[in-house]
Amino acid sequence: MGNESRGHPPVHYRCVGVGVGPANLSLASLLHDHADVPNLFLDRKEAFAWHDGQQMPGSTLQVSLFKDLVSLADPTNRFSFLSYLHEQGRVHHFLNAQFSAVPRQEFRNYLAWAAERNPHVVFGEEVHEVAFDRVFRVRTSRRTITADNIVVGVGSSPYVPPQARELLGPTQFHVSEFIMKAVDLAGKRVTVVGGGQSGAEAFLDLITRPAADRPRRISWLSRRRTYLPIDDSPFTNDFYTPSFSDHFYRLPADARRAVNRDTLLSSDGISEDTLRAIYQQLYVHRFVEGLPDLVGLYPNREVTTVTRGVRGNWEITARHNDEPHAAEQHEADLIVWATGFRPAPATFLAPIAGRLEREGDEFRVDEDFAVRWDGPPQHAVFLQNAVRAQRGLADVNLSLNAWRSRRIADRLRGVRSDDPLASFVEWSSKPDSKQTWNGR
Ligand SMILES: Cc1cc2nc3c(=O)[nH]c(=O)nc-3n(C[C@H](O)[C@H](O)[C@H](O)COP(=O)(O)OP(=O)(O)OC[C@H]3O[C@@H](n4cnc5c(N)ncnc54)[C@H](O)[C@@H]3O)c2cc1C
Repeated sequence: MGNESRGHPPVHYRCVGVGVGPANLSLASLLHDHADVPNLFLDRKEAFAWHDGQQMPGSTLQVSLFKDLVSLADPTNRFSFLSYLHEQGRVHHFLNAQFSAVPRQEFRNYLAWAAERNPHVVFGEEVHEVAFDRVFRVRTSRRTITADNIVVGVGSSPYVPPQARELLGPTQFHVSEFIMKAVDLAGKRVTVVGGGQSGAEAFLDLITRPAADRPRRISWLSRRRTYLPIDDSPFTNDFYTPSFSDHFYRLPADARRAVNRDTLLSSDGISEDTLRAIYQQLYVHRFVEGLPDLVGLYPNREVTTVTRGVRGNWEITARHNDEPHAAEQHEADLIVWATGFRPAPATFLAPIAGRLEREGDEFRVDEDFAVRWDGPPQHAVFLQNAVRAQRGLADVNLSLNAWRSRRIADRLRGVRSDDPLASFVEWSSKPDSKQTWNGR
C-alpha cells in the first residue's frame, strides 16, 4: 500500500531520478552533499548492474578513466574513480598494472560502489507513472511520492531488426544476453551479426575459447564495408567536449543530422586493441593451428531473412551491398544479434507527454537538458542520454556525463558553475570579426 493511501501526504523531493545507470548515478553523486536539494533516485533492477550480460572477459572501457561519475565536473567529489581505488586500498596496484584501458568489469564495480554508498539511490522500485498537479506525482511499484523536478535516465534498450524479433530465444538473442546464453557451443556453428564494438567483442570471445569449448564455425556479418575502427584521435575527441556539445545544440537540425552521420565512427567503431586481438587470433587459427575453416568474415552484407531450417538450424540470407542481386546463404545453430541499442521509451511520462514539446523522435530540451513544456518554469523534466539529435553522439556516451549532470544540478540549485575553456577549434563561424593568419 502506498504512503498516500495510508493517509500520509506523499514524501516530497526537490528531484526524483528515474533509472540508475551511469547518467543518473553521476547526478546522484554530485547532489549527495547538497542537503538543499532533497533527492531520490529509483531503479527497477534489484541491485546495481551495468551491461552485465556483456562483461566479456578482457573487455575494457572505451573512454579515459577521468570520465567517471564526477571528476570532469567536480574533481574533489568523494565518488570519483580515484576515490574508489583509494578506499579499496588498491590505488598503487592499479597504477602498477599499467592498464592501457580500465577493465570494464572494474569500472562496473566502481559504479556499484558509488551506488551502494549513496543512501538516496534505491533499487527494486520501478517508476510506473509521472503526472503533474502543481508538483510532479510519481507512482512507483511501491508508493507515490512528489517532486519539483524529474530527471529521466532510463538509458537504452537492445535493438534487433524486425526480421528476427519473433524468433528470439535460447539460440537467437541480442548480444546484451551474451554471457548468459552463449554457452555450451562446442561443435556448433555460430553467427554474429553486427560490426560495432559489441559484435567484435562477441566474435573475439568465441574465437578465443579453448578448443574443447569452441564452436566448429564462427561467422561475422556486418553491414559496414569492413570492420572499422573507432576514431579516438585528439581533434575527433573534441566532439566529446562541453563546448562542442553547446555548439552542436545551436546548429540547425539538418546540420546536426549531418554531423552525427559524418562522425558516427567516433562513437560506434571498434577499438583498435579489439581489432588487433581478433586479427592476431585469426592468424594463429589459420597459420599456427591449421584451422582454415574455423571462421568466416562477411562484411558489407545485410541480413535480409532468417528462417528455421529442416534440421532445426537457422538459415540466414544476406545481400551483398555491392552485388545486391546475389543472395548469399549462411547456416547457423546460434545467432548473436549485435545490432545496437535504441533509446528506452519513457512510457511512464504518458500522463504529461502531451504537454512536452517534441523534435522528431525526441523531446525538445533547453540548454540545461530540461524538456520544454507548457508547465510552470520552476518545475522541469530533465533528460539524460536521450537527445542525441539535439546534443550529438556524446549524449549517449560516458564522456559528458559529469558535465551534463552538473548543468542539471546547477539548475536545481539555482547556481551556474563555470564551463571548462572552449576548444582550440572555432566551431562556429565568426561573421563579424576579421580572421587573419595571426588572429588579429
Ligand atoms: C556493453 C556496453 C559498453 C559500453 N561501454 C561504454 C564505454 O566504455 N564508454 C562510453 O562512453 N560508453 C559506453 N557505453 C554506452 C553508455 O555509456 C552506456 O550505455 C551507459 O550505461 C548509459 O548510461 P545510462 O545511465 O544512460 O543508462 P543505463 O546504464 O542503461 O541505465 C538505465 C537504467 O534505468 C533503469 N530503468 C529504466 N526504466 C525504469 C523505470 N521505469 N523505473 C526505474 N528504473 C528504470 C534501468 O533498469 C537501468 O538500470 C557502453 C554501452 C554498452 C551497451
